[in-house]
Amino acid sequence: MPAPNIETIVSLSKRRGFVYPASEIYGGLGSSWDYGPLGVELANNIKKSWWNWLVYERDDIEGLDSSIIQNRLTWKYSGHETTFSDPLVDCRACKGRFRLDKLLDVQCPNHPAVHPGDDKECDLTEAREFNVMFRTTVGAVASDEDESALAYLRPETAQGIFINFANVLNTSRRKLSFGRAQIGKAFRNEVTPGNFIFRTREFEQMEMEYFVRPEDAPRIHQEWIDGFQDWIKSLGISDSNLSLYEQSDKELAHYAERTVDIMYRYFPEREEEDKQWDELMGIANRTDYDLRVHSKKPEDAEGKRINADSTDDLSYFDTQTNERFYPYVIEPAIGVNRTLLAVMMDAYTEKTNEKGETRVILKLTPELAPIKVAVLPLAKNKPEITELAKKLRRDLQPSMRAVYDDTGGIGKLYARQDEIGTPFCVTVDHESLEDNAVTVRDRDTWEQERVSIETLKEYLEKRLS
Ligand code: ATP
Repeated sequence: MPAPNIETIVSLSKRRGFVYPASEIYGGLGSSWDYGPLGVELANNIKKSWWNWLVYERDDIEGLDSSIIQNRLTWKYSGHETTFSDPLVDCRACKGRFRLDKLLDVQCPNHPAVHPGDDKECDLTEAREFNVMFRTTVGAVASDEDESALAYLRPETAQGIFINFANVLNTSRRKLSFGRAQIGKAFRNEVTPGNFIFRTREFEQMEMEYFVRPEDAPRIHQEWIDGFQDWIKSLGISDSNLSLYEQSDKELAHYAERTVDIMYRYFPEREEEDKQWDELMGIANRTDYDLRVHSKKPEDAEGKRINADSTDDLSYFDTQTNERFYPYVIEPAIGVNRTLLAVMMDAYTEKTNEKGETRVILKLTPELAPIKVAVLPLAKNKPEITELAKKLRRDLQPSMRAVYDDTGGIGKLYARQDEIGTPFCVTVDHESLEDNAVTVRDRDTWEQERVSIETLKEYLEKRLS
């Protein structure tokens, strides 16, 4: 049973230290969020899983970490300066401002029971385009209006990969197909942010650009669509909460030949099934658009484009066929924050104990769990027991994230660990001092097993793997 709605995760996150509203003591900042002690561990584990799967487990993908602020020309030639915009509408009645294609995500300020446009009093203007790139200035400038110093915070990590295409090729000397992976912050001045960490103005992306021969692109695109569904399921997300969405010709970005979104059921509370889904990730066939537009060539084979500013040609020379061409690129792009939200929603479970009390269990996979094991003393006033528990924690820590907690009765301590997804609790009791053994409790079954201290690390490693 996943979380019934996003609100359930918002309150769990705040209560347990996953995610807090940003700038809270100053009244907050619309849709900005800070990641607490558990949230940062969970996000790091998601990023590690993605990186391991793409960069370490394969031998055709390498990493990159490019700058957030690039030369403005990057965004001129990529097309973002002219096309990276959302359709914005104002409501003359409530004075609200909304993104036309996301009205469903927000409530009408005057009539919260309906979405903007749904009440007879709503009076929406015609849509106009609003560029969502954040502007800034670089260096000491006379005024913010100084256009020569204008720069942008990147709205996606992908362009950093494209403009480094030749740099990396020259050092890695790979043959097609190959990929470049990057994780980093991206910024979009979203018209309608909201739904907790689903849509924010500052977020983190995991993007991989996979360069292929043009004729291989459709097949390899499909392979990544299939592959990513498997990776997402490996995070513990159930099949029944995932679906695919094929973008229509009208929805496709101007550079894309085909884009398939992997959708997650973020809104299970909505009555109509088709309104329950929203995008978790997009997997696009971006054709050779990006490498071409950043290339210095005065014009391409079709005489299409001129880039007078670039100093490099980002084409690829195939030594076997003696052909020079621009590779196509397949781009699986996923947000860390949206993944974290989907993971938490799917892991959320409620279970009733023998006293009839409802307990929350976050059934995170051991790979993602922020804490792998909690060591708990049964008698916190007995130094022999607390010292032994603290020592066990220290001994476990190098191989797994372990914590010690003696701030409550054992029932409360177990409940706390269940709620944050800790797969195992280790309890040290009076008997432990005699038999050199501890009790290991399983988060999901609540079953307990006596394990000797000597074999504890090995036992836990095995069950966590
Ligand atoms: P949407 O249609 O929801 O605005 P998008 O199609 O513009 O998203 P992409 O440009 O494909 O998004 O970005 C790739 C991924 O980055 C998305 O699938 C999502 O996981 C994440 N992402 C994009 N925008 C945001 C945002 N404002 N907040 C959080 N994550 C985001």
